[in-house]
Amino acid sequence: MIQDIAPHKMDNSFAHEKPRPESVFFAFQKGNILMKKGADGTQTLPTLDMLSGSFEEIKERAIYVFSVDERPMFLLMRKDLDEGMIPEDLEYGNPRELYQEDQKWAALAGVTAGHLNHWYAEHVYCGCCGSLMDFGTKERAMVCPKCGNIQYPRISPVVMAAVTDGDKLLVTRYAGRPYKGLALIAGFVEIGESLESALRREVMEEVGLDIKEPRYFGSQPWGFSDSVISGFFTELDGSSQIRLDRDELSEALWLSRDEIPPQESPLSITAAMIEAFRKREI
Ligand SMILES: [Zn+2]
Repeated sequence: MIQDIAPHKMDNSFAHEKPRPESVFFAFQKGNILMKKGADGTQTLPTLDMLSGSFEEIKERAIYVFSVDERPMFLLMRKDLDEGMIPEDLEYGNPRELYQEDQKWAALAGVTAGHLNHWYAEHVYCGCCGSLMDFGTKERAMVCPKCGNIQYPRISPVVMAAVTDGDKLLVTRYAGRPYKGLALIAGFVEIGESLESALRREVMEEVGLDIKEPRYFGSQPWGFSDSVISGFFTELDGSSQIRLDRDELSEALWLSRDEIPPQESPLSITAAMIEAFRKREI
């Protein structure tokens, strides 16, 4: 999954780190991340010294986000990055392209920075009184100097259900999304719900099925949707007749272990759960 970056380590604890010219930075445009393409086509994260302009000014704008292997990394928000500062050999692309066997940490870093970028961009002004927000000095937060409103990073919980019926797993395909591969039932937790009740609701809404007691599989941070995903296996309870929610899904079907194709994504918990079932680990 995306967080499996050993032997590398990401440290998200709040700190006051100062950027250096060789520091990695993140910049985004409509969900795409600024990257440098190597001669062999591989994408890497840029460093601050690649930008043109005064480093003293760039330093003031750079927001510390986290460290990887004790290397502090920084975010430059779109409003703080003039297009003229970006050299021609840097280009925006999907953060998934950063995933390579020898730099697994880069995809996690890029997607997590994207999550933070989205949150910072939505909290430049106070939602209560409209004043310009300040950066928190003791914790990661945006603080209104006028009315005292404090905003913490927003993480939306998502539940994912791998529903099984003996040797069969319920797999789906999304309607109207770019991803066309196999998926599992998933959705955001509503206010007032436990993870378990959200799971029951999502399975009923999307495919019209009842489930037995969910068993926790694992979780993963998923900055693409500002969320953390909790995955559960659960057995079908009662009829296996699917009633499809066509607004959400284009297809839902029961596949036996032998019918499930190997899932190649090294990043997603969806693939990890489908693979665990296919390989009889569950
Ligand atoms: Zn305010």
